Amino acid sequence: MNEYDSGVMKEMLVKNGFVYTDNPEIADIVIVNGCVVREKPEKKAIETLRYFKEKGKFTVAAGCVAQKDKQNLKDVADVVIGPMEYDILLDVMGKGGIYTDFADYRDRFYKYAQNRKDISFSEYVTIMTGCDNFCSYCVVPFTRGREKSRSIDDILAEVEHLVRMGVKEITLIGQNVNSYFYEGFEFKDLLEKVALIGPPRIRFTTSHPRDISIAVFDVIKRYSNIMPWLHLPLQTGSTRLLKEMKRGYTKEEFVYITRLARKIVPGMTISTDIMVAYPSETEEDFEQTIEVVKEIEFDYAYMFIYSPRKPSSAFYRYKKTLPRDVAVKRHRKLVDTVQEIVIKKRRKMIGKRYTLLIDGHSKKDPNVSRGKTEGNITVVVNKKLPAGTFVDVVITDVKGVTPFGNIIS
Ligand code: SAH
Ligand code: SF4
Repeated sequence: MNEYDSGVMKEMLVKNGFVYTDNPEIADIVIVNGCVVREKPEKKAIETLRYFKEKGKFTVAAGCVAQKDKQNLKDVADVVIGPMEYDILLDVMGKGGIYTDFADYRDRFYKYAQNRKDISFSEYVTIMTGCDNFCSYCVVPFTRGREKSRSIDDILAEVEHLVRMGVKEITLIGQNVNSYFYEGFEFKDLLEKVALIGPPRIRFTTSHPRDISIAVFDVIKRYSNIMPWLHLPLQTGSTRLLKEMKRGYTKEEFVYITRLARKIVPGMTISTDIMVAYPSETEEDFEQTIEVVKEIEFDYAYMFIYSPRKPSSAFYRYKKTLPRDVAVKRHRKLVDTVQEIVIKKRRKMIGKRYTLLIDGHSKKDPNVSRGKTEGNITVVVNKKLPAGTFVDVVITDVKGVTPFGNIIS
């Protein structure tokens, strides 16, 4: 989301006379578009702002860090601008000040994305912003505001533009893409319309287990350019905690959806987000997470230790977090469990054929390139290949969790 927004900001500023550099050390103005979902990235964003402020740069704090920490950023940022005010970025660049109203001119801002020139082989397209779910641990609804779907015409125009520019992969993004709804069009309708425009590869993220539907799986199955990959955050395998978190599904429902997805779309890979040490998580709750992980056999997972986030409801409800050593131990066990499953799954890829979309070659060794399978699994090939090319490979070996492929086309 931030990456996409940064790209749109860049388009907006460059179109209006600013010169872009990706080396902040030589820039006059440094924009830090920071995430606050967990404490660590939030601290990093503030440290980065401080570093460049001390170097005498004009600094701009953007994104959720601006929205959440506006009052504390005065010393490190000349401009503080929240995601709902990006449309006025140009006007406030020279002025300084704090702009964090929920003004909601997002459509005006995203218009800049529609004709963007500086594109990579793989691009994001925001389809909705904000979130209405208020999961107990999460800061997003407070920093990104209420859920809002972008106009279907704007999205399709952007996709058409990207396809004309030769993009190879488009990822539709939003905090909860399955609840997309615009003038009678649901997510499945949008997905189908995007598929018909014809980008070679389409992905979408993030799906919410409560809102994803069979109809979406059917669309994925019908269109060969929609990749068989689903990112479906589990958070925890304990139904008791899922309820506490206000996630809106049980452990059994989650398992059922993943089974259905794999049944309807053969070869579907499923990745997830999992959190450990949510306040009040017992050993028993945690063991249920491990059980679900083993049952579903995720293709990969992002795993986090709970981080208290003001003003989420869990922040106020629980005065204490679990002891750090307990959290770290559970996280370690979860990572090891996932790793074991992932290695087993990667080994099963040996002898099978996949089409890779190449991300680029290694800087250290140009004769080593990496690319992603249809199911979003990174594979290494021993050849120098430019980013954005498609190659067919057969997997010949797996080292750690990394499969190696031989090119067959
Ligand atoms: N909208 C998506 C993703 C939101 S943030 C969703 O609903 O899944 C990405 C991930 O960060 C979440 O899935 C969750 O696993 C993690 N996360 C969010 N808040 C967190 C917190 N307070 N502590 C630790 N992890 C958190
Ligand atoms: Fe946060 Fe839940 Fe919304 Fe995801 S669905 S952004 S976790 S509130």
